[in-house]
Amino acid sequence: MAGIDIEGLATVYPNGVRAVDGLDLTVADGEFFALLGPSGCGKTTLLRTIAGLESATEGTVRIDSVDVTRAEPGKRGVAMVFQDYALFPHMTVSENITYPLKVRRVAASTRASVAERTGDELSLQGLLERRPGQLSGGQQQRVALARAIASEGKVLLLDEPLSNLDARLRLEARTFLKKLQRDLGITTVFVTHDQAEALALADRIAVMQSGKLRQLGSPREVFARPANTFVANFIGSTPMNLLPGTVVSDSSGSDSRGSDGRGSDGPGSDGSGSDGSGSNGSGSNGCGSDGGGAVSVAGGSLPAATGSAPVGAEVTVGVRPEYLTLSTGSVTGPCIRGSVVVTENLGTQSLVSVDCDGTLIGVTVPEEDEPAPGAAVVLTAAAQRVLLYDKESGELLA
Ligand code: ATP
Repeated sequence: MAGIDIEGLATVYPNGVRAVDGLDLTVADGEFFALLGPSGCGKTTLLRTIAGLESATEGTVRIDSVDVTRAEPGKRGVAMVFQDYALFPHMTVSENITYPLKVRRVAASTRASVAERTGDELSLQGLLERRPGQLSGGQQQRVALARAIASEGKVLLLDEPLSNLDARLRLEARTFLKKLQRDLGITTVFVTHDQAEALALADRIAVMQSGKLRQLGSPREVFARPANTFVANFIGSTPMNLLPGTVVSDSSGSDSRGSDGRGSDGPGSDGSGSDGSGSNGSGSNGCGSDGGGAVSVAGGSLPAATGSAPVGAEVTVGVRPEYLTLSTGSVTGPCIRGSVVVTENLGTQSLVSVDCDGTLIGVTVPEEDEPAPGAAVVLTAAAQRVLLYDKESGELLA
């Protein structure tokens, strides 16, 4: 087993496309690591460059601390599983699994026992004498994995390993793959464009865009604190709300809006104010300041840790539908008001689209709490769930 160290890596195709464009990353020994990004961002090229199937134009690749940047694919200690599995149709499952050993002239008796053992590990018992054409997609995928594992590489590279399976098999294979990787403890890098798959499987995820790394972190980190609006847009089964906003008070409580905490300027500052709901003193509309940082957005305002963003700064406000709370009564502190446009069933949850001063904001609620279309609702969020991004660069500010 071994880690992978990548430094200043660039892979440029002869046509001038910089598919990998100056990348640094380290995959730890035994880690299950996902390369995630939209089509064409360079994931497969990066994987193939680690494998030695593409040559690096700049930078270095080290596996187990050995510089393999110029080494032949067969000399790198990597085993790769291709998207289409690349099984030999004329060979049996057993022969497919042990083909890399045959190339290395390992004795037939040893090969037979490896096929038996690996077949057991990958639930291929009883299928060893079949040919690939007599197997289901899921079984073929397990044969391809078995072949990679039997070759005893230090590192397993998987190119979209689940993409050829139908939705149900895919879930099954996902669980199987996760358990197998944990049991074997083999350093594994897998490519996927499916963010749900990366979140479910990986210890850490590298999100790529145009050959560059946009964020590296645990599934929890990239979901809860996307480093920029690109990642925010890409991660999550329901898209993050990204709203134009203005900082109206900073985290020290300095306020640009007057002592009642209501906005008098800036977009949406009247959307949380004068509708007369509730009458409990200061902030009587139930959408006043709570004394901390806040940003105004369409329909009202949200609490936020504003960090270094000054009062008056125009920002992009990011808040996940899962982190907004919807209510119909009065609330205290900053909030957004709007009316329900449409609801979508997500299983045990519903995604509610709320029209807030002409801007649609998504919020998920338990299906039993689904409001009726047209209902007047109030949205709130905890300050730590409200992220501020630079309006121009899209990078996380606080
Ligand atoms: P997908 O999810 O669609 O497989 P990807 O993220 O894996 O995409 P790559 O296949 O690595 O992306 O491609 C990265 C870029 O390099 C794309 O712009 C692609 O068109 C280009 N590219 C890929 N292979 C070659 C090649 N052999 N010659 C020239 N350009 C290539």
